Amino acid sequence: MGRGREPLVTCDACGRTVPRDKAVEYVKSSIVDIDQKDVVIDLTKRKVYYCISCAKHRKIFEKKKRMFRKE
Ligand SMILES: [Zn+2]
Repeated sequence: MGRGREPLVTCDACGRTVPRDKAVEYVKSSIVDIDQKDVVIDLTKRKVYYCISCAKHRKIFEKKKRMFRKE
């Protein structure tokens, strides 16, 4: 405590503020626009952070591993 050099991020799931290095970075993509005529699918990528417990609940760790393997 009191070091003050770790940037704080907000957990996207529970809203808790956690130090950056204790948070799990996760890139969310979502379909934001589907046009019925042209079928426009727009994938918007948004970087979010989860605290450790939320990341575990959501199995973000496993997902991340799979994502890395794909690339
Ligand atoms: Zn959380």
